[in-house]
Amino acid sequence: MSTQSPIRTRFAPSPSGHLHVGGARTALFCLAYAKGRGGPQGQMLLRIEDTDQRRSSDAASMAFLEDLHWLGISWDEGPTFEGSGGGDTGPYFQSKRLQIYGEYLEKLIDQGHAYRAFETPEELNAKRAEARAAKQPYRYDRAALSLSKEQIEQLMAANTPYVIRFKVPDNAITVVDEVLGEVTTEAGQLDDFVICKTDGFPTYHLAVVVDDALMGVTHVIRGQEHLNNTPKHAALQDALGFDRPVYAHLSLIMNPDGSKMSKRDQDKTLRKAVKEAGLTEPPLGQDGPVVSLSDWSAWLGSKDGQLRPDETEQLAALLGVQLPEINVNDFKRAGYLPEVLINYLALLGWSPGGDREQFDMSFLVEHFDLKRVVK
Ligand code: GLU
Repeated sequence: MSTQSPIRTRFAPSPSGHLHVGGARTALFCLAYAKGRGGPQGQMLLRIEDTDQRRSSDAASMAFLEDLHWLGISWDEGPTFEGSGGGDTGPYFQSKRLQIYGEYLEKLIDQGHAYRAFETPEELNAKRAEARAAKQPYRYDRAALSLSKEQIEQLMAANTPYVIRFKVPDNAITVVDEVLGEVTTEAGQLDDFVICKTDGFPTYHLAVVVDDALMGVTHVIRGQEHLNNTPKHAALQDALGFDRPVYAHLSLIMNPDGSKMSKRDQDKTLRKAVKEAGLTEPPLGQDGPVVSLSDWSAWLGSKDGQLRPDETEQLAALLGVQLPEINVNDFKRAGYLPEVLINYLALLGWSPGGDREQFDMSFLVEHFDLKRVVK
């Protein structure tokens, strides 16, 4: 990566409602790094990762734009909102970039870096169970690689569903992380992971790598939950001939009880309350059921499903449940000022050194550096 190119960071949330404090901290550090280290040329992008078809992308799911704006976090490129956004490396919604991903998928297949695999979920589950029984780690056995060209053509002509898998290299992969140092994944540890799903949508791994490259992102600052994904991204970057961006993974934010603070904690609290109250149907609000019947059963039966922000609020009010404060909006409602929250978020992972604990955005921009981000 040339040190001459202007610094470009990106915040890449999936559209799932209000901004979680972890996401807010990531966005804040992306902005501070781009504007501080990057100087007048530095830019921050906002990209919406909405290729997960299960999550809705209606207006409520975009509530985080308002939260970013309230915090004073602006972006140079991305969806336009209250003076932020625009730019010419878009579209900035991944769902509008499917054609671009298709081109790179073709390229990977043509060059032998990726292949179509036609196993059904049942077949894969059976193989997984076999591996478990033999106390072996499961890894896709590359059976699809022995299909002939004719067999593949026949399967495709018969509309047999398939995924596209990336053929991971046989060598170890080392990624340098600005916060954590060198992280090496030994040869043979990665599976031939899926880069395109049966519905034709790219997976996160492919989309993120293509977008970071085409959008000229130089620094990827994101949560540590993505550290395990980084060797996959590095392998894809190598196969596609892209420069690797600089990586910096931020520590997880914890709840007071030591568990990982998650954007799903409010739904967890609500699901528990619903079960305790023995509710089998969505309670009635002013305009009928607070959640549609089908969404309700899917949500109640899932572990990680999330209701829309308005549904969450109504349901909590009806049940008299106090929701954990995990979103920027919860703090806003509790009366915190944006400056206070910015200060607090920054200290959850960075310190300016000395004993200074109170500062504002301009101080943060001036002093923020990845070297003082805590592991
Ligand atoms: N869409 C991902 C998330 O919300 C972002 C991953 C990344 O920054 O690469 O966690």
